[in-house]
Amino acid sequence: SYLDAPLSEGAEIHGTPAQAHHLGTVLRRGPGDAVTVFNVRDGEFAATIATLRKDRCAFALGERLRAPAAEPDLRLVVAVLKRDAFDWVVEKATELGVSAIHPVTTRRSVVDRVNLDRLSAIARGAAEQCERLSIPVIQLARPLHAVLDSWDGTPLLVAAERRDALPIGHAAHGLRLPCGWLVGPEGGFEGGELDDATRRAFVTAVALGPRILRAETAVVAGLSVLQALAGD
Ligand code: SAM
Repeated sequence: SYLDAPLSEGAEIHGTPAQAHHLGTVLRRGPGDAVTVFNVRDGEFAATIATLRKDRCAFALGERLRAPAAEPDLRLVVAVLKRDAFDWVVEKATELGVSAIHPVTTRRSVVDRVNLDRLSAIARGAAEQCERLSIPVIQLARPLHAVLDSWDGTPLLVAAERRDALPIGHAAHGLRLPCGWLVGPEGGFEGGELDDATRRAFVTAVALGPRILRAETAVVAGLSVLQALAGD
C-alpha cells in the first residue's frame, strides 16, 4: 500500500478508507497479516496490519526492504483522450516506468482538460500494483506548443504515421534516456502542427509501422521500446 505519511521502522501508520476497503473486502486480509507499504520519499517497508475495520486501517512497520529509487527519465507527452482511454494510458504508462505525464491539447483534440485527482489515484494504484516506488508526476493539460516552447531540449520522439517518419527501431538505436514520447489525439495531428513540432531540433518524427494504431496503442507500443533502452 502507498502511504503519504513519513515511514520508518517501528512506526504505526494509518491508511486511507479506500485501502481499508481494498485490504478487507477485496484481498480478504485481516489484522496480523503481512503486507508491504511504501512511498516515494522513504522507500518500501515490511509491515503487518495492526487494525482493520470497514473504513479504517493501520500498519505496524517492520524492516525497510527497499530504499527510495528514482525512475529513469522517460516522459510521456500525450493528447488528452476520452476518459476511459486516458485512464488506461495513465495506468499503462505508470507500469512502463514513465517519470512524468504531460497531457496536451492539439488542434484536433476533443477533450481539453484532465481530472488530476482521479488520474493521480490511477497512477498511485498502478504503482502499487507493479511495485514501483515512485509515482509519475502528472501535469495539468496545456496546449502542445506551450509544452514544446518550455521543453528542456531532451530528445522528444513524436509518433507520426507519416511516410517520412523514421521507423522506431532506427530512431531508438543508440538513443539513451532521458527521452520523451509524444502521441497525438484520436483524430491525429494536423499536418502543420506536426511540421511546427518537427522544426524544433529536439523533435523527431517516428513511425510504429504501416498500420494506423489507436492513440492509446501508440502510447504503449512506443513506451515499451523506449523503456527497454533504460536497461531495467
Ligand atoms: N486519424 C488519424 C489518421 O487517420 O491519420 C489517426 C490518428 S491515430 C488514431 C492517433 C495517434 O496515434 C497519432 O496522432 C499518432 O501519434 C499515433 N499513431 C497511430 N498510428 C501510428 C503509427 N503507425 N506510427 C506512429 N504513430 C502512430
